[in-house]
Amino acid sequence: MVIAESKPLAEILDMVKDFKKIVVAGCKGCVTVCCAGGEKEVAILASELRIARKAAGNELEVTEYTCERQCDPEYIEPLDDLVDGIDAVVSIACSVGPQYVAARYPYLRVFPGLNTTSIGGATEHGVWQEFCQACGNCIIGNFGGLCPITRCAKQLLNGPCGGSSQGICEVGKGAIPCIWQLIYDRLKNLGELHKLTEVQLYKNWSTSRDGGLRTTIREELKQ
Ligand code: SF4
Ligand code: SF4
Repeated sequence: MVIAESKPLAEILDMVKDFKKIVVAGCKGCVTVCCAGGEKEVAILASELRIARKAAGNELEVTEYTCERQCDPEYIEPLDDLVDGIDAVVSIACSVGPQYVAARYPYLRVFPGLNTTSIGGATEHGVWQEFCQACGNCIIGNFGGLCPITRCAKQLLNGPCGGSSQGICEVGKGAIPCIWQLIYDRLKNLGELHKLTEVQLYKNWSTSRDGGLRTTIREELKQ
């Protein structure tokens, strides 16, 4: 899932300081799961904005809306009924959402209420970690199903480095497991430790972000 976290309230207040009527738009997808941009967070942010502006003597009218997925144009359509006479939309979907909203309403100001941080998942209650950098050429099959590109601070394909100690990475203040320890443990369990003797020479990075905007096309799904 896409992981995101709320921007500071002061930053959002500054974005909308010149406006009287806004929509706060959430998403029931990933940002609901990571408790950053679902229905509940829309209600909280809307209340915080109303209260802060009222206290400042400059009231703000806030409409709340949460769609199924903001990264799907058909789910944004219901916003059509809400944006009439509105000055701006603050989207608290991942950063794809505000871009879709901006594309649909060329004359409406759109602001991001979240910072999108990574692709990953929950590792414990209230903690989410990055698991994938979307390199476009997944090679975790060579590493017991674990990703050293994302989860090794040095992106080592032939680890571990000398900083691995007691299974803990030297980066991250002792809080992050050395992924190369986990890879070793996995391969040992699988009886595939011999894979660690195969030197990984290089990775094909041509599918990564450096080549510019990436597009995925499924011809069989196109109409
Ligand atoms: S190898 Fe690439 S696609 Fe696979 S998990 Fe790592 S970053 Fe993601
Ligand atoms: S300690 Fe492990 S995870 Fe950390 S940088 Fe070294 S090899 Fe990578």
